[in-house]
Amino acid sequence: MKRTVNSELPKEQAIGRRDFIQQVVGMLAAAEVSLGRMEPANANQAANAAGQSGNHPNTPFVGIQMSPHTMLDEGIEPCLDLIKETAAVNAVFVYSHAFHTSTLGKPLRDLATDHGKPPRDFRNRVPSIWVRHHDEYFRNTRLRVRSTDSELEFADRDLFTEIVEPCRARKMKVYARILEAAGRHIENFDEVRTIDVYGNRGRYACWSHPDYRNFWSAVASDMFGHYDLDGFQWGAERMGPLMNVILPWNDDPPTCFCEHCIARGQAANIDAGRAKEGYTKLFEYVRRLADEREVPAEGVFTIFLRHLIRYPEILSWEYQYRLSREAVHKAMYDAIKAVKPAADVGWHVDHQPSSWDIVYRAEMSYEEMAPYSDFIKLILYHAVLGGRIYSWYLRRFQNTILRELSLRQSLEIYYDLMGYDKNVEPSVEDLRREGFSPDYVYRETKRSVASANGKTKIYAGIGIDVPGSPPEDPEKVYQATLNAFRAGVTGIVVSREYEEMKVPNLCAIGRGVREAAKTSE
Ligand SMILES: [Zn+2]
Repeated sequence: MKRTVNSELPKEQAIGRRDFIQQVVGMLAAAEVSLGRMEPANANQAANAAGQSGNHPNTPFVGIQMSPHTMLDEGIEPCLDLIKETAAVNAVFVYSHAFHTSTLGKPLRDLATDHGKPPRDFRNRVPSIWVRHHDEYFRNTRLRVRSTDSELEFADRDLFTEIVEPCRARKMKVYARILEAAGRHIENFDEVRTIDVYGNRGRYACWSHPDYRNFWSAVASDMFGHYDLDGFQWGAERMGPLMNVILPWNDDPPTCFCEHCIARGQAANIDAGRAKEGYTKLFEYVRRLADEREVPAEGVFTIFLRHLIRYPEILSWEYQYRLSREAVHKAMYDAIKAVKPAADVGWHVDHQPSSWDIVYRAEMSYEEMAPYSDFIKLILYHAVLGGRIYSWYLRRFQNTILRELSLRQSLEIYYDLMGYDKNVEPSVEDLRREGFSPDYVYRETKRSVASANGKTKIYAGIGIDVPGSPPEDPEKVYQATLNAFRAGVTGIVVSREYEEMKVPNLCAIGRGVREAAKTSE
């Protein structure tokens, strides 16, 4: 491996950086005091805490999601110091594979400008894959991770080797993080793509395909065989066939009806032909509704229900989809534990399944996922959820099977079904302007902790400065952090990407963490 420039700052600059962090935290604490949100004594404590490299002895698990190029651009050591001293972070979740995107870079308008170094627009300039793979691990699959273009910035760096020592020196753990999606970074991907109800290839891979499952085991096993990783977080932001029909993320026809899924269905005594026919009819019904070609006189929801009654295989097929997805989790879990039993292995549950996909929630509890999950990390981004519920839930459902409800009625039912407090959360008119409250974080966390029933850890993904959010209020960030701990989580993961996070909000997280540590004494 070619090692070039070490981006860590010379010592005198690093000290300047420390002063910078302490200064920023001190200023923020003073502002909190003047707003009457913090006692002066606590403000001094916050500023002092920012100058110390150690956390409170009871500091719980605090991870942070990060893109590798941000850390390399800011410099590994100053970046680690900033997150530790502001947000009390003790674990970094860094992308090893960003399969979900063609470019990890973001436009400047989405990037924080107060990290002590001006952000840069890295779109199409940095790799998506940050580890080296070894062919001998991939004997049981035709799939391979495509090699990285060596012309890209940082392509010659070996981040997961370089960060180990600086993280250990700060008592921080190193997690590799992956988001699955379409196959632009995978060779031979076409062979494992799903088959839709019309017999055409879908955009994603089939969970039941042995080559795809073996590919993920190989990736996981290879990484733990070659890098000193403490943990692993993997996620796939795609929903099952039923939800994608009734709450369509895209207009793709339902999948998967490949030979492997048909065999799985047969083994579970489900008639694949009936499932395919049911999905085709339901899909075409919903498409006609969405295009406003049909408003059935007997009722939109009634006719939706008629499809389920006549084709109960729709529900059975959806459940098999979920089970096949969980089998991929288990394969990775087993592969990692065979190499490093102590590794902390868990799953990213994105915003839709955590907070509005009731089909996902109904299919299984977190306790049922526990045999192959050391942790479940839920997305609980309070501020951006308002806009998401408005556009991605209310409006989409109104275009499909909830045509008969007004947005106000639909929102009210949503709040009641999910157990969120409609007296606290925003009205339809205010959803996008206000976002959700810290109470949402408390209630969803509590429900998830109950679903895990002590059998797996819940990490709350606290979101700050996620693009699309209303302006972030550090006080709400502080409350959301504290609420996650009050509701019983083992830890939090500061989300969604470090490069978006403004220092006042990182400090608000740190305040919440330190408060939680104090109250757990
Ligand atoms: Zn399939």
